[in-house]
Amino acid sequence: MHAVVCIKQVPDTTDVKIDRKTNTLIREGVPSIVNPFDIHAIEEALRLKDRFGGRVTVISMGPSQARESLKKAISYGVDEAILISDRAFAGADTLATSYVLAQTIRAIGDKEPVDLVLCGKQAIDGDTAQVGPGIATRLGISQLTYVVKIRSIDLEKKEIVVERQLEGGREVLRAELPALLTVVKELNTSRYQSLPSMIRAARYDPPVWDKDSFDRDPSLLGLKGSPTKVSKVYVPPPREKGGIIAGDPEDPEKTVAELVDKLLECKIIG
Ligand SMILES: Cc1cc2nc3c(=O)[nH]c(=O)nc-3n(C[C@H](O)[C@H](O)[C@H](O)COP(=O)(O)OP(=O)(O)OC[C@H]3O[C@@H](n4cnc5c(N)ncnc54)[C@H](O)[C@@H]3O)c2cc1C
Repeated sequence: MHAVVCIKQVPDTTDVKIDRKTNTLIREGVPSIVNPFDIHAIEEALRLKDRFGGRVTVISMGPSQARESLKKAISYGVDEAILISDRAFAGADTLATSYVLAQTIRAIGDKEPVDLVLCGKQAIDGDTAQVGPGIATRLGISQLTYVVKIRSIDLEKKEIVVERQLEGGREVLRAELPALLTVVKELNTSRYQSLPSMIRAARYDPPVWDKDSFDRDPSLLGLKGSPTKVSKVYVPPPREKGGIIAGDPEDPEKTVAELVDKLLECKIIG
């Protein structure tokens, strides 16, 4: 079993600040972490390796600082962690990001076929949840999103059965391998890092793949390959404080009149 896990380095906060001039996230001064959902993707890949043997490869597209996230992945016990980094990837939207990740996975698969690709359900900064499905579409493989449980995997029949988390329950799906899964936190509890893995991580220098490391169409990279235009980014204005009409149980007509006046004033009726 060869599993590839995609991880993203994100700011360690959900209170993201926005640069009003450039409409981009302010990342300076905010410590970085591995996107929390991706930690669960790593854990699941390691559990599958424990069951079936094989290999876990982690990849991350990002600037040089993303090395720290890859070292973190090594500390959990993955076999290899690759940084995908090149100036040509700068300004990538989710379409261009998923293109680079898909081409990387193809190149990895040429050396050792990939059975499963795992992603988090979404990144806590960009929050689009588009990259996983984008990779699966580009690779032409099954995509199973919001996976909360892997029921079974049959490597001979090349088949996987999973449970997807839906708002009102769970959906059971059977799909062909190779497949891409996006995972939710309830899938598993992450293990503690072992001392030997932590020592290996401290010494690990992630290999860097640039634009020449895989087959690619230059027009689909970075800003050139990004059709998304961000017209405005803003923090929604805080909601106005609500009012309570206490009412008078002795005089319900007065209470109703007060309520109707308020609804007229707010132009909800009238
Ligand atoms: C016009 C435009 C320009 C942008 N320019 C930049 C820029 O210059 N620099 C910049 O940092 N961001 C930039 N972004 C943001 C960048 O496109 C997104 O952060 C990225 O595509 C991931 O989207 P997301 O955060 O919504 O991830 P989601 O789709 O929510 O992530 C889901 C999962 O996909 C995987 N994943 C996501 N991103 C990566 C990654 N990079 N490597 C490995 N796995 C990943 C992870 O498993 C993650 O859990 C830009 C966005 C737009 C729209």
